[in-house]
Parts: sequence; C-alpha cells; structure tokens
Amino acid sequence: MSLELEHDCPHCEESRIFYKAASMTVHLGTKTKWRCPECNYAFIKINGIDSSASA
Ligand SMILES: [Zn+2]
Repeated sequence: MSLELEHDCPHCEESRIFYKAASMTVHLGTKTKWRCPECNYAFIKINGIDSSASA
C-alpha cells in the first residue's frame, strides 16, 4: 500500500499529495488516516473507500 495519495483537499480547494498519518485494523477492514501536508486537513478511508462524505 502506498504512503502517499493524491486527493482533492476541501480546505486547500485543490489537489494535494496526502500522506498516511495512521493505519489500524478495525472490524470493517483496514482504516487509514490521510493528512494534507499543507493545511493538516485529514480524512479516513476504510478498505480504500473514502468515508469523509458520510456524516
Ligand atoms: Zn489541504
């Protein structure tokens, strides 16, 4: 699995190379936390699925 991920940052309002800040195994699978190095915005993915949209 890569340690970097290109993703649109809603804070910077442009595409950034996020880095993996944390990774843990949960009952749903593997949970990874990605952080924007520019503004420190972070979001969670579970099994590679972006869960930032789910409130
Ligand atoms: Zn950002």
